[in-house]
This record gives sequence, C-alpha cells and structure tokens, in this order.
Amino acid sequence: MGEKLAVYEKLVSRGRKTIRTNPMAVYKEVKPVATFMGKLKHGADILEELTKVCVENNVKLGKVEAIGAVKKARIGYYDQNTKTYNFFELDRHLEITNLVGNVSLKDGEPIIHAHITLSDEKGNAFGGHLAAGTEVFACEFCLTSFEGPEFNRGLDEQTRLPLWKM
Ligand code: ZN
Repeated sequence: MGEKLAVYEKLVSRGRKTIRTNPMAVYKEVKPVATFMGKLKHGADILEELTKVCVENNVKLGKVEAIGAVKKARIGYYDQNTKTYNFFELDRHLEITNLVGNVSLKDGEPIIHAHITLSDEKGNAFGGHLAAGTEVFACEFCLTSFEGPEFNRGLDEQTRLPLWKM
C-alpha cells in the first residue's frame, strides 16, 4: 500500500493577473472490500445509526451515501473566521436529495463525516455538515468499507478542524 504525495503547480487567472499557487494533495491508496446496503428505521437518528452500522461491522475506513426523507434536520456550518461550528435545526419534513460522507477514526473510534442536501416541497435546497439530531422518515443507505492504512483525525492548527493526520 504505497503512500503518494502529489505536489503540483497551477496557474490561476484572476482578472488580468496570473497568480502562481502551490496546492498539495496528500492521499493514500484504499481498496473497497465490502458494501452494506440497507435502510434505517423510521425515527432513527441518521448519524448515530450509520455510525452503529460501522461499529457493528468493524468499518474503520469507508464511504457512505444515502437518500430518503427526514422529519427534521440538524446541520452545521463552519465559520472560517471564528473557527467555530454554527449548528441550526430545520424542524420540518424534507427530502434527502443527497447524503455523502466518509468513515475514518477519531480517538480510535469510527467516525462519519457527512454532508447532506435536503429539499422542501418547492424544491428549495438546504445543506451542510450533518449533525446528530437529524431524524429519519425513511432512509436507504450504501456503506462501503475500505482496506487500507488508518486515517486518524486530529486537530489541524490552520483550520482548527479535526482533519486527517497524514
Ligand atoms: Zn463537514
């Protein structure tokens, strides 16, 4: 399982000026080993239930996706200036048009980092960082576990977020 470090240079055009940037991607190879597909119970907390499925199946690395509907939602927005999460509730019935996330480790336990997009009766969309407190009306999910190196979350100084230490 090789660790890859990609360093590349990109030219960004901003108006008439060309700015040279040095973004860097750090990534590792992972291999899908199993996919679990199912539904969550009416009234369940989406984030808690999906995390339970990970624990039950020893999924420490993976990806998750889901669609369905919620009775209410709790989502977060990270304020990059104050470096704090602002959570808000949507106390209404909404469609889950998309839920996508990953599974990794934090303090040795599987943790799901997921974002969700929800829509109302007129098709208006809301979205953000999925938090506990989002209640299932109906939910179908696919969870794929990966074989690979451990991805451990720890405090990132620059963003103050629990990012992957790699
Ligand atoms: Zn997030």
